[in-house]
Amino acid sequence: MRCYFISLNSDPFLSISNSIKNSSIDEWQKEGRKVVGFYCTYIPEELLHAADLLPFRIRATGNKDTDLGDIYMVRFTCSFVRATLDMALKGVYDFLDGFLVCNSCDHSRRMYELFDLKVFNRENFHKKVHRFYLAIPHVITNEGFEWYKTEIEELKEELELKFNIKEITKEKLKKAIEVYNENRRLLREIHELRIQNNPKLTGTEALQINMANSSIPKDLANEELKRLKNILIQREGIHIKDKKRILLVGSVVDNIEFTELIENSGAFIASDILCFGTRNFMDDVQLENNKSPIENISKRLYYRLSCPRMMDDHERRLDFLKKEIKRANIEGVILQRINNCDLHGCDNMLFTHELKDLEIPVLNMDREFYQADTSRLQTRIEAFLEMI
Ligand code: SF4
Repeated sequence: MRCYFISLNSDPFLSISNSIKNSSIDEWQKEGRKVVGFYCTYIPEELLHAADLLPFRIRATGNKDTDLGDIYMVRFTCSFVRATLDMALKGVYDFLDGFLVCNSCDHSRRMYELFDLKVFNRENFHKKVHRFYLAIPHVITNEGFEWYKTEIEELKEELELKFNIKEITKEKLKKAIEVYNENRRLLREIHELRIQNNPKLTGTEALQINMANSSIPKDLANEELKRLKNILIQREGIHIKDKKRILLVGSVVDNIEFTELIENSGAFIASDILCFGTRNFMDDVQLENNKSPIENISKRLYYRLSCPRMMDDHERRLDFLKKEIKRANIEGVILQRINNCDLHGCDNMLFTHELKDLEIPVLNMDREFYQADTSRLQTRIEAFLEMI
């Protein structure tokens, strides 16, 4: 097969990641269908899909300040969360019809009240936005699973009630599982094209694909991912001759300025452990016929590659990190956390010590969500890459 370099700079699918709202959301709402914004990793998207709701993962892409958010949240909180609140207070999230929060971390969990009191209660904002809250255990145990599953069952009933849905049937849930499993399979196939020796896409492009994927209906996203995969297969490999293969780990990244800074400094982000990355697509829902679809969905979410909020699951995250270092031929690991993010701060500190055994260079750094101190970060990244 003849390969040639195809630029994805103006690809319509990747461009979706540049902004919050997009034309697919407009089309969806024109048909009278509803959109539910959510924070974050442990939300059962398949359940929303089965209810004919569009799940939209809240981002703060493009926001450069947190001035309005700072009024209600002290600066000793995560600047990503403050930036999302800031955007919401400016009206960017007024298109939402529903809002779903879980206690992933204390910073994002606080959004449940703040959106209600300050965002959806603004002067001249009269739309009714339904709010939902999902509690998640902090450890992985059998009892914890039963609790989590019950929470999701109750969420199903609440969605039916608030959105006036006759029933979210088993058939609809099974169909949603199929659509989401296909979505994750396609993302994994694209990931394989990235980690190979002759990579077909950059880490920045991978991030754009993952963000766009979380912002449009999944049936449509699956068609786009198939199209992109075919383009990438035909594409000549990207030039990484003098670049170091990096694995990027840590707090949420929803801004390509950060990945571009790393890749323009002489690195290729060959893999990651991020929310808009591998953490989202490595595990599928296993369809066990003797179990209800809700139980199958809950199992995947609860037992999959975890977020550091699962306090006793660090060993499994380390195990995945080590395997991915090998699989993606990694030469250095960049651990990063947004200031005041204790969850990723603790995990990163442990990784720093544990990776010494592998004798792999590690850079552990703190940053703000928005690119405030670019020169300092760039100097540190360049020095790290030179050391490798
Ligand atoms: S980056 Fe950390 S503090 Fe911020 S939302 Fe994510 S887990 Fe919470």
